[in-house]
Order: sequence, then C-alpha cells, then structure tokens
Amino acid sequence: MARFFDSLPPTESSRRVGFAGNRIDRQSEHRDPDVVAAAFGNPHARVYLFRGDKVLRKAPADPQFVAGEAAALGASLGDALLLGWSAGVPQLAALVPEQATLPATMLATDLRTLASEGALSSENLGALAQARSLMNWHARHRFCPNCGAATVVTLGGYRRDCPLCGAEHFPRTDPVVIMITIHDGPLGERALLGRQRQFMPGMYSALAGFMEPGETIEDAVRRETLEESGITIGRVAYHASQPWPFPMSLMIGCHAEALSEEIRRDDAELEDCRWFSRDEARAILAGTHPDGLRAPNSIAIAHRLLSAWALAD
Ligand SMILES: [Zn+2]
Repeated sequence: MARFFDSLPPTESSRRVGFAGNRIDRQSEHRDPDVVAAAFGNPHARVYLFRGDKVLRKAPADPQFVAGEAAALGASLGDALLLGWSAGVPQLAALVPEQATLPATMLATDLRTLASEGALSSENLGALAQARSLMNWHARHRFCPNCGAATVVTLGGYRRDCPLCGAEHFPRTDPVVIMITIHDGPLGERALLGRQRQFMPGMYSALAGFMEPGETIEDAVRRETLEESGITIGRVAYHASQPWPFPMSLMIGCHAEALSEEIRRDDAELEDCRWFSRDEARAILAGTHPDGLRAPNSIAIAHRLLSAWALAD
C-alpha cells in the first residue's frame, strides 16, 4: 500500500508566497508577564521599527535595530511587542513617532513595496508581517469586547487582559478565501479572473472575500464566487495560504470547479469579470498580453493560483 504522504507535493505551495518565510519561535503559550523587559535584558535583542505603515531600514537588506538605536529614534520600547526568538535572540517590534526625524540614509517603505522589491530576506518579511498584523490587532482592540473597559497588554503583546471583568483576549486573524475558478468546456479549460475598480490599469486577479461565521472554506469559496460572478461552483481544492497583514488576514487560496459558464457580475464588487484561456493566462503572467493585461506579481497568492493552473507551476 502506498504511503499516504507520498501522494502529496514535496514542497508546500504556501512556502512560495510573500510573507511566508517567518521562522520566529513565538513561545506565545510560555511567556511571563515581564517578558519584554527580560528580552531587552539581552544585548543582542533586535527590534523591527515602524513609523505609521512604513517599515524602517538602516540599509536595503537590514530592517533590524538594537535597542539603543531604536531608542535614539524615539521608539516607545516600553510598548514593544515581542514577536519571539530567532536562534535564541529576542525579536521585537515597536513604533517610532510619526514626527520622528530620521537620518537621511534611513529608508521608510510600506510592506507591500518591500515584499515586491525583493531586497529583504523571506525571514525578515515574514517577521515584519507578523509584527504588522499584531500591531494592527492591538490598534483596533484597545477596549474589552465583553464589558467595554480599557484593556492592558501582557505577554509581550500576545494577550490583552481586562482589569474590570477579568476577560483575556488573544490576537485574531481574519480568514479570507481567494480563488481561481476553472471551467472545462468545448473551448478547453478557462480561468475566471476579475477586476476591481481600484486595481492598477490592466490588472486582473483572483476573486476573494472574507469568510463568514459558520462556513467551511469550501462553502465560502462557493458563496463568494456565486455572489461576485454568478458562477456556480462544484468541487473546491485548497492550494496554499498567505499571511496578509492588511490589516490582519490570512489568505486561503483555492481552485474551484465551475458548474456554470454565464457570468453575472456584481457591479458593486467588480468592474469586469471574464474567462481566460491558458494561453492568455500565460501571457498575462509573463507580462506579454497584447492588451497589456497583467496579474498580481509573484509574491501574491493570486499569481501562484493562476500559475499553478496555467503553467502547472
Ligand atoms: Zn472586560
């Protein structure tokens, strides 16, 4: 009898998307309340710094600061989040004030641009995505959802405690399904791509939407695809996932089997929605489509979903 795991791909598809390289040992279940102070007691501790949505870098490939450097930039180290440890070295994240004056050589870049640029290691990009998601969660969850009192950060940012009712609140991730639907008919296989109004000119991508309470991933794929395109979906196959810190999502990438062909587009969600042949999809991925149509770049899970079908890659 064949061994079960022999039938599965040798490499996880999720390893190939942007923000997926995080190797930090979080130890989020084994933390003392004073874990941040203890972390800064280690002279090798490293801090990722954000000013608003921008990541600070000392050099194109170096986004890590020692505590003294972070403090000199005005970072509030008392409010730092402890992401975890890398080879035993504490890895933290903190904000510098919006009005902080930065040295002329310092780079301040948003995370999407950083991921596309390719100068940072995948480990650093993954850690920055963890930091950004966690910061975004804290910024939106300062009050107890149980009683409304202001809550207090503990465990280096991995819990917020309510001093009034005693409730403990843990950082959350919002799951989003993102899918490429495939139709098999007389014209051969074709993939469904859509365009939102705010996309760059010529950009087409996978359909996507937030999961709703009480849904399986497969049900969410079927519901979202039907709502946005009018296409009925049969089978759904999971492909890969991607941490997406805008503000704190997990993209769950799937391929879906179309049971119908006629598109009835939701005007509010999409400006256009079309079927694309494999040849067209290959041209879109390669940037050689005669009409200048494009797909999200290779760090995006939408790109990987499309290339897995069009290029078997
Ligand atoms: Zn409370």
